[in-house]
Amino acid sequence: MKVAIIGGGAAGFFIAANLKLLAPDTSVTIFERQTDVMKKVLISGGGRCNVTNSFEGVTDLKQVYPRGHKLLKNLFNIFNYRSAYQWFEKNGVKLTTQDDHCVFPLSQDAHSIANCLKNIATRTGVVIKTSHCVNNILKTENGYDISFKEEHLPVQAFDCVAITTGGSPQSRGLDYLKDLGHLIEEPVPSLFTFNINDATLHDLMGTVVEPATASIAGTKFKAEGALLITHWGMSGPAILKLSSHAARYVNEQNYRFPLLVNWVNESNNEKVAETLRTIADNSPNKQIGNVRPYNLPTRLWEYLIGKCGLTLERKWNELGKKGINRLTNTLCNDSYEIDGRGVFRDEFVTCGGISLSSVHRNTLESKTCPGLFFAGEVLDIDGVTGGFNFQAAWTTGYTVAKAISEKT
Ligand SMILES: Cc1cc2nc3c(=O)[nH]c(=O)nc-3n(C[C@H](O)[C@H](O)[C@H](O)COP(=O)(O)OP(=O)(O)OC[C@H]3O[C@@H](n4cnc5c(N)ncnc54)[C@H](O)[C@@H]3O)c2cc1C
Repeated sequence: MKVAIIGGGAAGFFIAANLKLLAPDTSVTIFERQTDVMKKVLISGGGRCNVTNSFEGVTDLKQVYPRGHKLLKNLFNIFNYRSAYQWFEKNGVKLTTQDDHCVFPLSQDAHSIANCLKNIATRTGVVIKTSHCVNNILKTENGYDISFKEEHLPVQAFDCVAITTGGSPQSRGLDYLKDLGHLIEEPVPSLFTFNINDATLHDLMGTVVEPATASIAGTKFKAEGALLITHWGMSGPAILKLSSHAARYVNEQNYRFPLLVNWVNESNNEKVAETLRTIADNSPNKQIGNVRPYNLPTRLWEYLIGKCGLTLERKWNELGKKGINRLTNTLCNDSYEIDGRGVFRDEFVTCGGISLSSVHRNTLESKTCPGLFFAGEVLDIDGVTGGFNFQAAWTTGYTVAKAISEKT
């Protein structure tokens, strides 16, 4: 059995390694368009590679996989985060779980993950062809013919093919797969920061509030976590999570929409008003600028007081019902106009790709092309930050390796 894997990233290498472990006689070739493999693994997690997550506190997979949660729930019966943890440890990579449930190599170095996968591939005889950009796959009587963008490279024939080309915000790159009968969910970016064109925010650069809630006015999209004010707008886990859940919606809005921030992470406005009234009762003669509720950062509190038209020198007992209401509203429903998305690619994934309706849910084999499989971000599966995207690559990669091994 000759197997081609298109894309030498996390999912591609995980298929190759597992396929050789499950069916050692299989001939496996990885085609990678770049000059080196696993580039994303190496830069992931700031060079540390957040390899998976302990999923503690995840009560519903939808919270962490806005796309693909149903399919993954099923595939986690075959290979889940515990399987991934054990797999890497068994293959010599010691891991550590942080307090925030993110799992990293104990070495704190992404090379540990990349080298582990590369070493297994090399040891088991996987052929790795870099500078091979696949641009077409033709269905033949016995399998598939693969051709390359590099014109000097000959067409090669394989029995089975696994597509692991990763995410791409342009659907053009998936045209050859569309031609083979697969449905493409329009790819759009996910996991990005929000731009706000407001000079008054500049003084707040570097301010972190944890936890805050960010939501999109008029929608059900909401996310909580640390929120960071940057020199271009807002970032931090709450914003990235919100960008993931609302990826398609904000794309349709051309990244212009009203953002609401609840700085005190308290959805019950009356409770917040009560907290403010208690401060007013306990410190009636103090200036509002000098007593910060909820331990908010000083600069932010001063900014919010100004934003609701009050002065820092105003005394708490001078606020009255109206003043308390204004502050409550600003703390709970502070509104910003988002004007574009951050383009720096800190941790960016693609929402969309090969529709899950085009693959068999237990094997990830194409419904229109037997012997053709998909794994990793090329599928319409993506998660929030925290190791969930690599976990999806390990789970879908293992599923494909197992399914191909069962054909041998
Ligand atoms: C900066 C950054 C940091 C990240 N950090 C984390 C993290 O810490 N934890 C986490 O869970 N996720 C993280 N992610 C997301 C994670 O890296 C991806 O979800 C994951 O790499 C997807 O794996 P993949 O194998 O599907 O795709 P990729 O790793 O992108 O691999 C796809 C490969 O296919 C190749 N390819 C594409 N087209 C062709 C073609 N036509 N012919 C041949 N080869 C082709 C590409 O060059 C690439 O090498 C991060 C992403 C970024 C950008």
